[in-house]
Amino acid sequence: MYRLDQLCLATLLFTALGLSCSQNSSVPPTFDGPRAFSYLKQQVAFGPRVPGSEAWENCRAFYNTFFDSLGLTVDSQVFHFVDPYSGVTLPLVNVMVSIAGRHTDQPGILLAAHWDCRPRCELATDPLLAAQPLDGANDGASGVAVLMELAVLLAEQPPPVGVQLVLFDGEDWGEPGDLEYYMLGSREFARRGVRGKYRFGIVLDMIGDKDQQIYREGYSQQFSPSLNDMVFAAAARLNLTTFHDSVKYYVHDDHLSLNSGGLPAIDLIDFDYPHWHTERDTPDKCSPEALENVGRLMIHLIYNPSLWPTN
Ligand SMILES: [Zn+2]
Repeated sequence: MYRLDQLCLATLLFTALGLSCSQNSSVPPTFDGPRAFSYLKQQVAFGPRVPGSEAWENCRAFYNTFFDSLGLTVDSQVFHFVDPYSGVTLPLVNVMVSIAGRHTDQPGILLAAHWDCRPRCELATDPLLAAQPLDGANDGASGVAVLMELAVLLAEQPPPVGVQLVLFDGEDWGEPGDLEYYMLGSREFARRGVRGKYRFGIVLDMIGDKDQQIYREGYSQQFSPSLNDMVFAAAARLNLTTFHDSVKYYVHDDHLSLNSGGLPAIDLIDFDYPHWHTERDTPDKCSPEALENVGRLMIHLIYNPSLWPTN
């Protein structure tokens, strides 16, 4: 009886959203944490993906091959940035992957992560390493790894609406305090238009820490509280004990560009990471379980339109 009521309610909500229950909406796919973790390690194996470097070029080719092999459409937003610190003109590339949904007449969902590595680790435990680039296992590769595993699953089982994956470049370029030189890729992406194009956006950043602790991020709460409500209620429902339903940090990240452009968006970020911007941001500090927690949550949200905010 309870189950029946739940089903009726779900049907009503689907109808209210203009989405119908269809034959393959019953069992969402299962997120594979170990496989996602292998994608994290594969990215790090190229070396620091600093914009313009050989590792960056090779990793971008790896993404293209990966998404192509899933039969997905990959587009690139290429643009240039004059580095204020060296005067050199840098190439930057946002990698965009479109996954078709069952309802092509509905706006889709935007999921994003940054793929670039910070060109310096100023918080290095060894000061001699401060000018070296980061490996960026958590700060960059973790979010992308989750998006890659999602791509595999969504390509196999079409989601209710289209999903746009975006790998932002140049998130982590600026020196401390130079906020205008961070979030370069997402600024460019938003500048080309995001308002009304998607229902909402979720940015994944630094979600791979072995000791995962994810709180509501402060600007997300300020600009898009209903999305935070959706995410943290779902995390509780899934018994994800590494999610904490309170605000702890305010973080300047790619979701700010999206909100500024008129797209409601939040940042899922674990800012309790002792290896942040140090030479120790390596795969051994991350875990398959952490990626799986976030991946399961994303799958739950993507395949349950009744959970999406309507405003
Ligand atoms: Zn960073």
